[in-house]
Parts: sequence; structure tokens; C-alpha cells
Amino acid sequence: MSGLREAVVGARRIVVKVGSSSISGENAGQIDPLVDALSAAHARGAEVVLVSSGAIATGMPHLRLDARPTDLATQQAAAAVGQNVLIYRYQNSLARYDIVAGQVLLTAGDLENPTHRSNAQRAMERLLGLRILPIVNENDTVATHEIRFGDNDRLAALVSELVQADLLVLLSDVDALYTRPPQEPGAERIDRVPVDDDLSGVELGDIGAAGVGTGGAGTKIAAAKHAAKAGIPVLLASTGNVREALAGEATGTWFEERPRA
Ligand code: GLU
Repeated sequence: MSGLREAVVGARRIVVKVGSSSISGENAGQIDPLVDALSAAHARGAEVVLVSSGAIATGMPHLRLDARPTDLATQQAAAAVGQNVLIYRYQNSLARYDIVAGQVLLTAGDLENPTHRSNAQRAMERLLGLRILPIVNENDTVATHEIRFGDNDRLAALVSELVQADLLVLLSDVDALYTRPPQEPGAERIDRVPVDDDLSGVELGDIGAAGVGTGGAGTKIAAAKHAAKAGIPVLLASTGNVREALAGEATGTWFEERPRA
């Protein structure tokens, strides 16, 4: 058929993760094009889960902070304020397509505790069955893993496993994984990562870690590897290319999944 990625266009259940810096502050305007792409996937029948950070960054101006707070309690306070505003923005944008969002706040610990895990799984299944678009973030008031490292990269991989997604799309500020930090000379774009490739030749810089987020190439690769080993293919792409990414066009870096047993 065409050059489209079949694993994307045929995916029944898709988890998309977006980081703080892509959708807050001066990039808050990227929420609409992101939602356009999510809605297009939803309209073709896919079940879509969004894992979005950005609570702290979105809360900052409301606490009159012009830089990311450094102490945990103020980060949590900013997240509590910002989460509310963030969901409001998503819901406003989704309303253009008549889609309703459901807020799901989780911790990695919830996903390890069998009772919490099955509760979360049941809720997610029902939300998706009702054609709601769940928007997941870390529950920052009780857990702070993603505040410290990862900006939800790890949470997104765990959520993909929880819902047995067919695809995880990790969005960042950089369009793909490169052999070395992309601003450096000689950096080459990596198109595909086989499941057994440990990427030992890749020199890690920070992608998407500047400013208000906490993720980087390292946390993205770890998350992608985790999902790929669980049988879920992963596409690492830029937020600016989300439409192309979800339409199955050749963009970003593709992490091949281990075949499911
Ligand atoms: N859950 C936090 C948020 O949404 C984590 C992201 C971060 O480290 O900035 O703001």
C-alpha cells in the first residue's frame, strides 16, 4: 500500500504522551493542533489516551512564579493549581470535536499495587468504551516521581502497558532520536530502533528538558524500551509533527516492539 505506517493507521488503542514545555507558557497554543491530531485518530475509530504533563508549568503564572519552583511543596502546589487549568484548556479544545475528556491522576505505585491497578484498568476500559478521551497525569500531591525525573515518560509507558495499547507516541521538542545531541555536528537521525538494540552508540543530550520540563532523551529512551519490550511499538516524534505522526507518515524514530507471546 502507500508509504503510511500500518501499525499507526491500524492501531486500535493509542497512548500519546506530551511534555510540559510543548503545551504550556508560550507553547500553550500547541494544544489546539495537538487536539486536532488526537481527534482525527479518535474519528477514525481509535481509542486515544493522552498522558500530559504541564500541571506545574501551567500553574506557575497563577502563583505569580516566573521560574519553575525548586522546592517540592511549591511544585506540588503549582501542580494542584495548574492541573485544573490544563484540563480546562484541553476540554475547551476537545469541545470543538464534541469529545469529552476524563481526568485520570495516577502514580507509578498505583500501577504496581494489584488492587489499585485493577481499579485503574477497569476505569480506563469504561472511559474508552464510552468514547471519552482520558487525560492522565501523575498525581503530584501524593507522588513526585515524575516531577523529579521524566516528565511522565515512564508513566506513559506504564499506562500503555496497563491499557494494552497498540502504540505509544512520545512527543518532545525534537523531531527524532539522533546519534548525538542534534545541535552537534555529525548528528544523524535514527529512523528505526530494533528491539534488541541497546543504543549504546548513542550519545545522549537533553531533548525537551530545557525550561519547565524534566524529561530528556534518556528518560524517553528508557520509556520507549520499556514499552517495546512489553510488545508495544513506540514512535518518538516532535509535538509540531503530531498530525503527521498520528496519520502514519514517516516522521520521528520508530522503536520496534518485541512480538507478544
Ligand atoms: N506531573 C508533573 C506536571 O504535570 C510532572 C512534570 C514535570 O516534571 O514538570 O507538571
